[in-house]
Amino acid sequence: MKILLTNDDGIAAPGLWALARELRSIAEVVVVAPDREQSGVGTSVTLHQPLRLRSVKPLVDGIETYVVEGTPADSVIIALKMLLKDKIDLVIAGINEGSNLGTDVLISGTVGAAFQAYFHGLPTIAVSVASFEDLHFEVASRICAIIARQLATGRLPRKFLLNINLPNLPLEQLTGIEITELGERSHTDAVKRGGIKAGHDGKRSYYWIEHSEPQGKEEKGTDVWALREKKISITPLHNDLTSHEDLESMQWVRALLSRELPSSGPGVLRQIKLLPNWGRCLKYIGYRNTSFYLIC
Ligand code: MN
Repeated sequence: MKILLTNDDGIAAPGLWALARELRSIAEVVVVAPDREQSGVGTSVTLHQPLRLRSVKPLVDGIETYVVEGTPADSVIIALKMLLKDKIDLVIAGINEGSNLGTDVLISGTVGAAFQAYFHGLPTIAVSVASFEDLHFEVASRICAIIARQLATGRLPRKFLLNINLPNLPLEQLTGIEITELGERSHTDAVKRGGIKAGHDGKRSYYWIEHSEPQGKEEKGTDVWALREKKISITPLHNDLTSHEDLESMQWVRALLSRELPSSGPGVLRQIKLLPNWGRCLKYIGYRNTSFYLIC
């Protein structure tokens, strides 16, 4: 069995190596991780600059280790497409310092890396411990090892993404394990002016986006609720962001646009006429038998 480990806290993060130490006895472990902290970059991939990669000495003996000057998702792409050629049985991102709950999964670099592996059709785990200090990695590491062992028996689906969050507690203080839904929570709703000197760097004001606590009571069954109850939260994720319940109720948008656009109906936009003075700011795109113009 071969396991790829990555993270968004960077190559030196203790959570990554706690996991490597636990897993090396049951699998061949390869670490490919960003060279620096990349928390909050989500599924971001680097498209406009080269990605440098180098082999480095591991912090746990005997583990093939690479650092990537890029994002967590870059690390997974490089690992799967170039270094390891898809010969991987499981990808784990973590152990992250700090929880990845609710809507924060959309900005989480840990979950972003996991999604990249999931897009490649692999079983994937994103694992986080809900604290930034005095971290307990033992239970999180053991959970990953147990799932990896089960995967090796061939009795698990070939593709899944589990977002696992643990309270920062030793095993005996945890109160249970729950399969959960994403709750309501977002980092991005707390913006503060930074610094003691009224948030000014001498030139202009600056701001910090900060962690915020979810407002109101979280419903039972959500990941935020589970953590609050000192339970381990396991949320299966997938990448379909389509709002299926709105497919019908949003038909009014189509109806409105069909009525209001100058050449609605079949072949919408086909007959837009070029006004003379628009000529230099329109791009022409030929597609099959239809001409489209983009206003630029
Ligand atoms: Mn992180």
